[in-house]
Amino acid sequence: MKEIILCKYGEIALKGLNKSTFESMMMKSIRRRLKKFGEMKITKAQSTVYIEPLSEDIDVDEVVERLSKIFGIIKLCRSCVLEKSMDAILGDSIGYLREQLESARTFKVDAKRSDKKFPYKSPEICIELGGKILQEFPHLKVDVHDPDVTVMVEVRESNAYVYAGKLDGAGGIPVGSSGKALLLLSGGIDSPVAGYMMAKRGAVIDAVHFEAPPYTSDRARMKVEQLAKIITDYCGDIAFYCVPFTEIQETLRDKCPEEYFTILMRRLMMEIAQRLAEKNGAQALVTGESLGQVASQTMYAMVCTDAACRLPVFRPCIGLDKTEIIETARKIDTFETSILPYEDCCTVFTPKHPKTRPSLEAVQKAQALCDWEGMIQQAVENTTVKMIRLD
Ligand code: ATP
Ligand code: MG
Repeated sequence: MKEIILCKYGEIALKGLNKSTFESMMMKSIRRRLKKFGEMKITKAQSTVYIEPLSEDIDVDEVVERLSKIFGIIKLCRSCVLEKSMDAILGDSIGYLREQLESARTFKVDAKRSDKKFPYKSPEICIELGGKILQEFPHLKVDVHDPDVTVMVEVRESNAYVYAGKLDGAGGIPVGSSGKALLLLSGGIDSPVAGYMMAKRGAVIDAVHFEAPPYTSDRARMKVEQLAKIITDYCGDIAFYCVPFTEIQETLRDKCPEEYFTILMRRLMMEIAQRLAEKNGAQALVTGESLGQVASQTMYAMVCTDAACRLPVFRPCIGLDKTEIIETARKIDTFETSILPYEDCCTVFTPKHPKTRPSLEAVQKAQALCDWEGMIQQAVENTTVKMIRLD
């Protein structure tokens, strides 16, 4: 029997005149992500994408798993494809659902008939198929409120589809529908989550990482690349920029008041990040900051950081508690990598008593103690780039 995966749209279904643009971006994401599995027929109709594996060797569970990370899809239904007749619905679906029905105690049938020419109305389909199921599986009882299994029949233009149970999709809107943003990616817990959250709202993500060898090691950078790799499941391919930051950090340490070290470092990071963003067509910066989490993330400190930025800075974790960020990090599978104990350039030379309420004037004065332009240009020039690709 032919099996197909139905991917139902979320928000895209409501997009009015722009719907087709969003749809084609999602189709592109789907094709790209399913390429590695082999040949499949991928079509769309009625706010649903139909995915039909065309070879026996394709592992449908793996396909479903991959689809569950594509933004724009809200539900996934693994379904059998039937001829549009009551005989087929009553006959063939029983075999397809056998395993699930045998292990259940209660069930119900729901039906949806988008092809209004089909001669049976939805309640009639439910009654007929419900009766047939009771006959075939005498241990089952009907429970319309809280059944173990809900059997769904959808009669659409092309065929009838029957399935039991649906899986949540990733939600959001398709990557590529909201412009490109440059994510400041550290090796910590928060920034990969921030990248995921922006991709969920349709942003293409590039990443920039600052390293300070020999204070930070190759292993530390590889860990960050690994984090970028993990989020490609959601974000797609990521251009990964790595900025040599040692000279700037050493100068900060030697020439600037210690209590301003972190805030000045962050302003200089932002300056370099936005030059890279402008050079590579990104329209905004993204960080993993959360209000009040550390001294550099007080509102006072962020005002000073943002004063150094021409581009908008998005901070999707801003209102989340650490526990909530960790919950998402576990869900997207970055947590275990994030907690590996490698050094980050942010933790080199950190002051004992950073200013939590810096004034912009004082910060600007401290920054003016050095001429940074040459060092900034050097850092941008010596930045390396590597494509981190989705498998
Ligand atoms: P994270 O868990 O994301 O590392 P954090 O709580 O450790 O965040 P900070 O170290 O203060 O916070 O960094 C705040 C944000 O600055 C990070 O979320 C990230 O966006 C950016 N950032 C910090 N260090 C780096 C780095 N070495 N390279 C690129 N971005 C960085
Ligand atoms: Mg960090």
